Amino acid sequence: MELSILKRECCGHGRCFTYFPQLFEPDEEGLGRPRFETVPAGQAQLARLAVTECPERAIVLTTTQPDRSVSGEDQR
Ligand code: SF4
Repeated sequence: MELSILKRECCGHGRCFTYFPQLFEPDEEGLGRPRFETVPAGQAQLARLAVTECPERAIVLTTTQPDRSVSGEDQR
C-alpha cells in the first residue's frame, strides 16, 4: 500500500501532519509530505482515515496488487 500527496491539490492546511504525524510531515513549503512511500505495517487503517480527512482530497493511497500476468504459454 503506497501513500502519496498530489502537490497541485495540496493547500497546506496541515491536517495530515497535525493529526497523523506518524505518516506525514510538512515539507519546506509547509505542504504535506508522506514520511514513507509504503505504509508501515499496522498503519493501513490510519492511512485510510487520513485520506478521508484531507479537505482537498490530495492524499492518495494505492494498493499494489500482486502480479497476475500469465506466462507466454498461458496467453493463447
Ligand atoms: S491535509 Fe491535505 S491539503 Fe492539507 S496539508 Fe495535508 S495533504 Fe495538503
